[in-house]
Amino acid sequence: MRTAVGRGIREVARGVGLFLCLGALGAIWLLPSVRRRRARRAAHCRQCARNGRIAAVVIPCCAVLLLAGAAVRAQAAAVPLTPCNVHVYANGAAVPEPEVQLDVDPTWDVSRRVVLAGVSGLALAGGRVAGMDECQSSQPILFWRPPATSAGGSVIGETFLAWDTVANGGRASERNGFGISREDIYLRFGPNIAVDRAELEALAGHESVHVDQAATLTSIGGPLTMPLLYSVDNAFFPLERNHFERAAGLDAGGYTEPPDGGPDPQWSAVAAIVVLLVLLGFRRLRWLSRVAAQGGAGAATHEPGRCPRHSRGWFRPR
Ligand SMILES: [Zn+2]
Ligand SMILES: [Zn+2]
Repeated sequence: MRTAVGRGIREVARGVGLFLCLGALGAIWLLPSVRRRRARRAAHCRQCARNGRIAAVVIPCCAVLLLAGAAVRAQAAAVPLTPCNVHVYANGAAVPEPEVQLDVDPTWDVSRRVVLAGVSGLALAGGRVAGMDECQSSQPILFWRPPATSAGGSVIGETFLAWDTVANGGRASERNGFGISREDIYLRFGPNIAVDRAELEALAGHESVHVDQAATLTSIGGPLTMPLLYSVDNAFFPLERNHFERAAGLDAGGYTEPPDGGPDPQWSAVAAIVVLLVLLGFRRLRWLSRVAAQGGAGAATHEPGRCPRHSRGWFRPR
């Protein structure tokens, strides 16, 4: 009885871990037919057995890391961060600007924050470790303290990381996030990337679309899906040609419309992707060479103690 309960708990934990790390696609690993095939392979191939042991360590570690991130995010929601753009005067008075209102369905808004909580929290923790300051707008924002002046950044989960800074310090009135209004000098708390209210709202809307993109892709394939797809797209369609940026609105994101919508491959990035694909697909290529040399028989032939895919040797197994 106790072992049955223990097994049940392990099964649930495994399902949660797979869902956290690999999204809905993680459910494929739980299908009975897939599990049977994996067990059969592990019984006959020491490489497959070793891969199974590695996955049994990596997936729980990834899940624990994401749960820790979710705890950091939950804490930042329970004890709200200082609002972004609050005007802090020399006498200590803090006057908030009106909140940025986004046109987002409330249920979807909560869902996307929950889906991204792990990564958003890890980004918050990372920014804190790096010595960045933080504030809460329509999303949590991390920025460098003055004298650095933010110029832009990236969303990681729901958190906006304003890692990029202005090289020349910006205009005097904007530098360090200070501004002059009716002869009062105040600190406008936050990254102050947008110069006026309209730009601030447009930028928040743009980042909100990135949060939608991240939430959707994370639910499908886990937290690495968005950064991977974005990077691959960016290798062929960089900056203002990037499909994620175009979908979020170029003007709102501070990009200028490209002269054409075509690709502009960044060859070093493309080469890196090709090398990575060859490294990842190396065994599959080796197996395909045996299929090419020997037809159907080449697909099934294998070394003793290794499955066809893990058998060594080009064109014939060793
Ligand atoms: Zn194998
Ligand atoms: Zn963007």
